[in-house]
Amino acid sequence: MNDIIRIPQGHATIVDRSDVVVVGGGPAGISAAVSAARNGASVTLLERYPYVGGLAAGGMVLVLDDMVNGLEITVQGICTEMIERMRRKNLCMVPDENDRQIDRRDLPESWRRWARWGLFDFHTPTAPHPICYAAAFDPDAFKQTAYDLFAETRVKLRTHSWFSSAIVEDGTVKGVVCQTKEGLQAVMGGVVIDATGDLDVAASAGASHVEDSFILTTVSRWGGVDTEAAERFEFEEPELFKRLDHEAKRLLGGCWAYWWLKTPLPGVVWLNCPHMPKLSGMKVEDLTAAELEGRARMGRLLEFAREKIPGFENAYVVDFAPQTGVRQTRMLQGEYVVTKDDVMSRRHFTDTVCRGRDYYTPYRALLPKEVDQLLVAGRHYSATPQAQKSSREIPPCMAMGEAAGIAATVALNAGTTVHKADVRAIQKQMRAQGADPGDIPSANATYLEAAE
Ligand SMILES: Cc1cc2nc3c(=O)[nH]c(=O)nc-3n(C[C@H](O)[C@H](O)[C@H](O)COP(=O)(O)OP(=O)(O)OC[C@H]3O[C@@H](n4cnc5c(N)ncnc54)[C@H](O)[C@@H]3O)c2cc1C
Repeated sequence: MNDIIRIPQGHATIVDRSDVVVVGGGPAGISAAVSAARNGASVTLLERYPYVGGLAAGGMVLVLDDMVNGLEITVQGICTEMIERMRRKNLCMVPDENDRQIDRRDLPESWRRWARWGLFDFHTPTAPHPICYAAAFDPDAFKQTAYDLFAETRVKLRTHSWFSSAIVEDGTVKGVVCQTKEGLQAVMGGVVIDATGDLDVAASAGASHVEDSFILTTVSRWGGVDTEAAERFEFEEPELFKRLDHEAKRLLGGCWAYWWLKTPLPGVVWLNCPHMPKLSGMKVEDLTAAELEGRARMGRLLEFAREKIPGFENAYVVDFAPQTGVRQTRMLQGEYVVTKDDVMSRRHFTDTVCRGRDYYTPYRALLPKEVDQLLVAGRHYSATPQAQKSSREIPPCMAMGEAAGIAATVALNAGTTVHKADVRAIQKQMRAQGADPGDIPSANATYLEAAE
């Protein structure tokens, strides 16, 4: 018979107790759960949807980038482990090492080979952007790789569990409550890691935060595309290509430079568009409007592409991402708030525990001020909205998750709180796991321009 806990909404059934409870099974949550489990903790991972992967799988955001500083790969650990596992199944593409070298990465032939995979450093303000270490992957492979890691590390996964409230006693988080088909269920934990992307747990626990928004996108995939013909047209008839590409972008009403990119599945492309500003990823009406508006715009684009663009004559919709493309909502205002200047000037912190391309994330940016035994990891980390825009890609979120998973176990093993966790021990363990804690500032870091 399960225990019952009284909560303000009534009562919830306690269905599990773990050392570490991770809420949200996106890139940050997957890393956090695996990392904590590898360090000996019992771990429960809660996810609202039937699958994990967050925006990387359900959102069909299919390029892992923002993980290099020139030739240096700055995000490693669980992120690169997942890349390698997906590569072994031919479900992930990384540019050949040769084409990433200084004397080759800017060459037109390297660009032609890799640009339509989206595997270039868009933060470098040169044209063309240099080809770099980044990965184009299949969304189902991302999910399956996560499940394989959970099985190996004994992470207890509970899907269909929608977090609804934090259980807080005397300023310390003790567990979380989820809404499920069976009613309210509680999972108790020594440390809770909020990896919901929208700061659901920390906000419920009373942590300071700000809310902002960036463009929303309904990502989709099209099949039946002759990508070779489309690329031939692009490179061999540049004037006509430019005209048609311009018209396609007008129909979209906002997109990045490349509106379609290749995926590891032959003839299937993904479309990281359209841009829909002034909509909030927190509002039911806006999220519903994004689904309908995104579909309408993509429908118009498909009609146009089938009629006019070589290679797209037989294109069809494979699917729209089941998860709305939300880039920014709530952000923690924690023990340290990372600013855009910190990101752009590559400010180094003594408590740096992970990195993005060439910027550093301090441990304090994962710590709420008002509550203890709670860590955050992912796109809702403690940053200003402007800083988050240029430091929220999937790999840095995974690096934050890996560091948070370690931090939780460092605190628990020392019998202390996450606020008092030994940062040196976290850095040391990050390195032991093959990740880069960013404790040593990079000597060759250069100033790079901000972009998407
Ligand atoms: C359209 C678009 C394009 C992008 N392009 C790129 C790109 O090309 N390359 C790149 O690297 N990054 C890109 N990004 C950014 C990147 O996808 C995200 O910043 C990253 O996925 C954030 O990871 P996360 O784990 O913090 O959050 P998320 O991926 O949002 O994962 C959060 C997880 O928590 C779960 N969850 C949320 N609320 C609850 C709840 N209440 N209860 C239980 N579970 C919950 C969600 O279902 C999800 O699984 C893009 C983002 C968007 C939207």
